[in-house]
Amino acid sequence: MPSFNNANKIMKKITSIIFSTILIFHIYSVKAQNYNQNIDNIVAECSYDTILQNLDEFEDLGIKEPGTTELENTLFWLEDKYASYGYSDFYRDTFTYAGHTLVNLVVTKQGSQFPDKNLIICGHYDTKNGPGVNDNGSGTAAILEIARLLEPLTSKYTVKFINFSGEEDGLLGSSHYVENVVNPSGMDIVLVFNIDAIGGVNGEDNSIIVCERDESSPSSNNDNSAAFTDSLATLVNLYSNLEAEISYAYGSDYVPFQENEYVITGFYNYVESPYYHTENDILANVDVDYIYETTKAAIGASLFFSKSFDPSVLVSENKVQNIEIYPNPISSSATLNVSPFMGNDITINIHDIAGKEVFTDHFRVISSIYPLNFDNQKSGFYLITIESDNNLFTEKIIVSKNK
Ligand SMILES: [Zn+2]
Repeated sequence: MPSFNNANKIMKKITSIIFSTILIFHIYSVKAQNYNQNIDNIVAECSYDTILQNLDEFEDLGIKEPGTTELENTLFWLEDKYASYGYSDFYRDTFTYAGHTLVNLVVTKQGSQFPDKNLIICGHYDTKNGPGVNDNGSGTAAILEIARLLEPLTSKYTVKFINFSGEEDGLLGSSHYVENVVNPSGMDIVLVFNIDAIGGVNGEDNSIIVCERDESSPSSNNDNSAAFTDSLATLVNLYSNLEAEISYAYGSDYVPFQENEYVITGFYNYVESPYYHTENDILANVDVDYIYETTKAAIGASLFFSKSFDPSVLVSENKVQNIEIYPNPISSSATLNVSPFMGNDITINIHDIAGKEVFTDHFRVISSIYPLNFDNQKSGFYLITIESDNNLFTEKIIVSKNK
């Protein structure tokens, strides 16, 4: 085994490897998409039947206006659903309007790594003049399905599912929550992802979902909203059969958040329904296939934005079959093939035989091909470790300069 006897010289060589590799990688990473096989596997569990059943039950719950038993029963129905999925952290954020007590339901899934950082996934459950299967039974069914599939996963960020009340009477619930909970506590919110009216219109071409970004004042949070909304559009393409169209956010529960400089995005149907706020906002008038596809995209986005993964598929050392390093032994350069993509938050480390780190790189997502350059590295054994949120891979590399 070779031994290194000149640390400074090695460090210079290491620096050269780092720079050449990072430079090449960045060219690739611009083109890289965010596709994640593990997210796709969970999106595949999205259940059309569960969504349909929840829409049907939402319709049966009737017209959910302030002060009605229908609205109160819908709250109980939501609590039962979340409880049946395994949730236990419930908070009723209560306020009064026109003499009625209204309730925002906040269901929290604690983050494993960054519990103080919150992804809020929200939509209102009150309706106006009708059972509101589109506005907003559709968003409610999507949020429930996200919650159902997220529950057994590990989420690095805390996820709050919030079913707002009083939306139809002027964004009352979300305004109350922002003023009385978010602002006083200085809540750290990564993103507010609002889902309102994703039902489309039965019989029409519902193939586009609108991804909503913040274009209103204050403008301090608009760039971040645009970046998240661009990601959301990409995630639509990756995890559903829909097309994404980016438009501006208005008139729903993200507004009080964006007015307080929080970063928002949202889903809204492309085909405007003629049934909003009428007795005909019923199951027969929405497109359940469209709600299903939008929900799949919403699940992919929720997993991606909350950094969630399935702990049961954690792969132990050297169990990843899809990583190749070639050639190995290496004379100057090699290619790391990590196709299919193995997770988010990738860290690559290379250590020499003495255990000294000679290379490290970290990035959010990786492209399938990662070039390694050993031009200035000495002959010998190295250990490469590639770690993501749900995978660990180690492999011995042999660098051989022998002629
Ligand atoms: Zn609505």
